[in-house]
Parts: sequence; structure tokens; C-alpha cells
Amino acid sequence: MDRWAEQRDELHAACEEMYRRGLVGAYSGNASIRLEGDLEEGLLLVTPTQRPYYRLQPEELVVVDLSGEPMSDGLAPSSETALHLEIYRTREDVNSVVHTHSLCASAAAVAGREIPPIVDEMVFHIGGGVPIGDYAFPGSEELALIAARAMGERNAVLLRNHGVVGVGNEIWDALEVCDLVERVAHIFVLAHAFGPGGANPLPPDIIAVEQQLFRDRCRASHR
Ligand SMILES: [Zn+2]
Repeated sequence: MDRWAEQRDELHAACEEMYRRGLVGAYSGNASIRLEGDLEEGLLLVTPTQRPYYRLQPEELVVVDLSGEPMSDGLAPSSETALHLEIYRTREDVNSVVHTHSLCASAAAVAGREIPPIVDEMVFHIGGGVPIGDYAFPGSEELALIAARAMGERNAVLLRNHGVVGVGNEIWDALEVCDLVERVAHIFVLAHAFGPGGANPLPPDIIAVEQQLFRDRCRASHR
């Protein structure tokens, strides 16, 4: 029996759900979970490249080490593996990374607009607004560095002219973050339809209170 069979089934189920919700095209986006180890040494399970989600099998998910090298023969790991690795390196609290190309969030990324904290659940689950970094080529080390830096301690970031990255303690958390980013991006676009000033951020004092709750919950879940 495969040592990582349970983790393969879980990541596979999350990928199916990500595709079913329309957060990615069949060949786009990717997802990973931290299998074991710390920031110096460890293993990840990541989606393969060039495999449509509707044909993906759990055993085709790729185990890689923290330099991105596959641990066995088979399909090559996602072309965005460097992005996942950089986030695991810089965020000890993160055990899962999901990257999506959902429509409204990608539209915000194309417009170069960060999404301000406009609804409470953004602050509870993302830690505030969704930041955006500078443009970098897909799959590059530069993109990995820019995304991790722009995300900081938030749970999501927009990749300029590209898409979304969401992170979490487990794969379903990261998936729900990406889903939330898509929904708030949609709200952001619709609010602008009401005219200038249509997308009002939450009051600053409320954001501060909610950010404290976000930090307290993060700390509690990583004790
Ligand atoms: Zn992408």
C-alpha cells in the first residue's frame, strides 16, 4: 500500500472539487499539501503538469522534495512547483497551497487591482484585503518570490495578469480561500457597477478587531 494513499485521495478530491466549482480550467491551476518535514527538509504532494483534472488519478499526484525533485518516476510536477515551495519555505503555518484561475479574481489581477477588505469574511479567513504583486512569468522563481512577498501573512494573493493563490492549514481551507477570493472579486466588480465609490471597504476599527480575531485563530490552530 502506498505510504501516502490517504493524502493522495484527499488532494485528489480537492482537485475534483476545485474543477467542479469552475475555479480552474481542465489544464490550469495546481494544488499541493505538505506531507512531512520542516522548512529545511520535507516532502510535498503536488498536482502533475499537463494532466486534465477530469482524467487525474490519485496515484498520478507527484511527491517532490523541497528542492522540487520528484521522488519517483511518473508525471512531472506542476510547472508552478517553485511557487508552492517558496510559500512553504516562508510560511511555517501553511500546510496546503491552491492556485486557481477563476474569472472575476483573474479579471481583478488583469486590472492590477488588489481587492480591499469589503466584506467581513475576507478579514476572518484571509486576514484583510487580497494583495497583488508585480507581474512575473508563470513558473518562474521570480513569480514565486513576488507572490510569497506580496502575500505576507495573509492567506491569499493575486498574481498580476494571471490568477489567485490561497493557502491554509489543510487543503480544504486553501480551497475555500480561493473560492472566497473569487466571490469577493465578483462582489467587488458588481459594487463598482453602482458607480464611483461603489465598493466601500469595511470601517477601519472593524477591520482591526477582525484582524485580531484572525491572528488569534491562526495562533490557536498552530500550537
Ligand atoms: Zn496559473
